[in-house]
Amino acid sequence: MMRVGILGGGQLGRMLALAAQPLGIHCRVFDPEPGCPAAAVAEHVCAPYDDRDALARFADGLDVATCEIEGLPPATLAALAARVPLRPGLPALALKQDRLSEKRYLRAHGLATAPFASAASPAELGGALAAVGLPAILKRRERGYDGRGQALLRTHDAAAATAAALGGGPLLAEAVVEFARELSVIAVRSAEGEIRTYPLTENLHEDGILRCAVAPAPAVTAALRDAAAETARRLLVALDYVGVLVVELFALHDGRLLVNEIAPRVHNSGHWTIEGAETSQFENHLRALCGLPLGSTAAIGSSFLVNIIGAPPALDPILRLPDTHLHLYGKTPRPGRKIGHVTARALDERHLRQRGQAIVRHLSTTNEHGRMP
Ligand code: AMP
Repeated sequence: MMRVGILGGGQLGRMLALAAQPLGIHCRVFDPEPGCPAAAVAEHVCAPYDDRDALARFADGLDVATCEIEGLPPATLAALAARVPLRPGLPALALKQDRLSEKRYLRAHGLATAPFASAASPAELGGALAAVGLPAILKRRERGYDGRGQALLRTHDAAAATAAALGGGPLLAEAVVEFARELSVIAVRSAEGEIRTYPLTENLHEDGILRCAVAPAPAVTAALRDAAAETARRLLVALDYVGVLVVELFALHDGRLLVNEIAPRVHNSGHWTIEGAETSQFENHLRALCGLPLGSTAAIGSSFLVNIIGAPPALDPILRLPDTHLHLYGKTPRPGRKIGHVTARALDERHLRQRGQAIVRHLSTTNEHGRMP
């Protein structure tokens, strides 16, 4: 039996562990939180990420390890990689330690991004804003997620206060992109270097949090599909990557694509693949890690994914909808927290839209919810 270690025991770890069971793969997660979402379905080593003895216990007997969160201490990642193959490897994970190096890496590999400039200190802020223009988005360079660690800036006068509110550390200033829509490409590379790409996903974010997604994204031209797949391919090859990689894209009105950021792991925008693709992103990530052949990434009909954020919804109305699937992560509800998701699948656009609207309506009574894209 293959033994896979997962750093992080959140919902991504939980869904990886659930996908591992039918493949006969054993999962062990490392997470400091007792009762973390993955603990219900996987072996759990519960300790702080910098606890070296616990890390050694976690690594003991593993065939391969992976991460389901970002921003882990680099020393922890290096110590784990010295004991057991880490997939994806340190070069891909290092990109997520610093937004500036990530953006520079993308540019160095010929991929377009929003205009950006470094503001390592308050003194550099004026120059950075002059370079990217206003309005701008200020982002903390070290990882923030779900919209945390970034703020919209409309005037020079507000710059110092906004930067201070972000903690005063090194920042990245980015031009605000007037995109037509946000897309993500979910791709997977096997240990032998085979690459497969899922149909594009269209994502709707509000306040920096993913609210809902539709896949396959509607109205995707062959040129757009090929450009997105080539973006993912270039990164997978450059990073000698094994596993699932997600690239978040801004699609511009003129048809060009900008890369917003990458996720070197399974990703929220790919949750629809559990019911909506022949092989889920979780299964394909595990197959890649374990040196197994990849499964088909073809979609089964169309899927609409809605995140459940904040309070738990009334379940009955959702469960009554045809071909609609509920996933709760076992998390304590808190405002702004993703506690589950719902995927509706349909064979035609009309049914998908009806089901999607019904879900959003039901969730809207109890939840912070999103519009349909
Ligand atoms: P991020 O944390 O960089 O993934 O940003 C979260 C979300 O904020 C993105 O999915 C976009 O909706 C929005 N966003 C981030 N950067 C920009 C930008 N430069 N222009 C417009 N919207 C942005």
